[in-house]
Amino acid sequence: MTSSAARTALDLTADLPVAGLEDCYRDLHRHPELSLREHRTAGKLAEQLRKAGYETAEGVGGTGVVGVLRNGDGPTVLLRADMDALPVAEETGLPYASEVPGVMHACGHDLHVAWLAGAAGALAAGRDAWSGTLLMVGQPAEETGQGAQAMVTDGLYERFPRPDVLLGQHAAPGPAGLYAHSPGLILSASTDVDIVVHGQGGHGSRPESTVDPVVTAAYLVTRLQTVVSREVAPRDSAVLTVGRIEAGTRHNVIPSEARIALNLRTQSMAVRDRMIAAIRRIAAGECLAAGCPREPEVIVGADFPATVNDAGTDRRVAAVHGEVFGTGAVFDPGPAMGSEDFPHLAPDGVPYAYWFVTSTPADVWEAAPGADLMEKFTAVPSNHSPRFAPDTSTLVPGVRTLVSGALAHLAVA
Ligand code: ZN
Ligand code: ZN
Repeated sequence: MTSSAARTALDLTADLPVAGLEDCYRDLHRHPELSLREHRTAGKLAEQLRKAGYETAEGVGGTGVVGVLRNGDGPTVLLRADMDALPVAEETGLPYASEVPGVMHACGHDLHVAWLAGAAGALAAGRDAWSGTLLMVGQPAEETGQGAQAMVTDGLYERFPRPDVLLGQHAAPGPAGLYAHSPGLILSASTDVDIVVHGQGGHGSRPESTVDPVVTAAYLVTRLQTVVSREVAPRDSAVLTVGRIEAGTRHNVIPSEARIALNLRTQSMAVRDRMIAAIRRIAAGECLAAGCPREPEVIVGADFPATVNDAGTDRRVAAVHGEVFGTGAVFDPGPAMGSEDFPHLAPDGVPYAYWFVTSTPADVWEAAPGADLMEKFTAVPSNHSPRFAPDTSTLVPGVRTLVSGALAHLAVA
């Protein structure tokens, strides 16, 4: 016994324009654009939304695109695709590989845009079967964590209807044709932190006349390792990685400052705040111990919030995906340490569901070394890899996931 949302989704996606979807995807893949420069991509998406009958706006939050379809009484459902590519030189050898040197759709956002355009078309063509309002969002600059917030700051929900629910999906490694849902935490928060240690420079032969920031920075890097091991409870997952350390110019010059750049991954804002407080305390303490002439600067930079699905919303979407694709195709991967800025799009208290569509081509998956799923998972090209090449066989299913997810929330006849 299938629900009317699942039946309607299968109806509305029975005759998808497969060749058109392929062309759209290949065209986007050939022409990747970096964060906040997604002009061509945004134009292509806006054109498809307009053709399908959506009231369309461009330039929202920089290069964002919004399409609205008002179709009678019922909830407002927002579907989101991010649009930006990465500064990665493509090595896939695909016939439709990037034509832009050093820039590549290595995270699958081209697939996301094609999915959204396909879903927008199918839902508009089948508008007799449902009522409510659809909000299609082409979001810029996900990779830099800026785009979602930029769209909201630019008045997204003053200019367009406020959604009752938000839905988003992402391509991921794994044998093509699985749908990963977690009814709670699915992605971690990410926070960049910069530390500047102020010492007192001088001649390498006269350390007594200096305060050496290199030694202090070295202690700091080591001591920062105790934040996760000694200050975060074992039940909480967290990562602290010092990704860059910079100081000095020559062998015999003691520099006057050292810089440390680190990244945190956490699964709750409370743990994140505790870690930032610990970093501030440890930095201040090491600099005090060394006799630094000034307190260190601790600058909290770009951050991504944790992505925490509303359990009811996610279960509803997972259930309809189970009906459309078979329950064996839906699984719960548990929380990952990756991050997204999608939650920034959600107004306070508005529920959302975010899931993954696995997209590794079957032959690549089969050929990957490894005895079990996890070994193969680490062996196949992942997002951000120059060899990331999602299977175009996921184009139609990725449209169905969005259409069925939307219909599970709209009023269906
Ligand atoms: Zn990415
Ligand atoms: Zn991505």
